[in-house]
Amino acid sequence: MAEKTLFQKIADGEIPSDMVYEDDRCIAFRDIHPHAPVHILVVPRKPIPSLDDLVDDDRELVGHLFLVAKQIAAQEGLDNGYRTVFNCGKEGQQTVPHLHLHLIGGRQLRWPPG
Ligand code: 5GP
Repeated sequence: MAEKTLFQKIADGEIPSDMVYEDDRCIAFRDIHPHAPVHILVVPRKPIPSLDDLVDDDRELVGHLFLVAKQIAAQEGLDNGYRTVFNCGKEGQQTVPHLHLHLIGGRQLRWPPG
């Protein structure tokens, strides 16, 4: 069996996290190094390495991640807006090879991100 990813270990409670949402398809927890007052990662339970590895069957799952992000944004009171980001690959500065949607907000964000 393949070794669990860091985020699978978090999903299974083997690594502690500040979990804010869970269902049968995804989890969401606070980023350990937040870049804003609210910085949450929405992570599918399926260990898809990156956006580049998505297949047609994942279409519904990815839509679900965005709807969960929207729901958490409302729960967190991000009424003035927020940002969602999938980093992908080396130049996209992805550091954890398990697909995750960043939900960032709670301050004025700048553009472009850099
Ligand atoms: P990436 O750089 O791959 O887009 O995002 C990975 C994110 O995971 C980073 O923002 C990093 O701070 C976060 N992260 C890495 N290890 C842990 C951990 O053990 N716990 C939590 N809560 N976040 C983590």
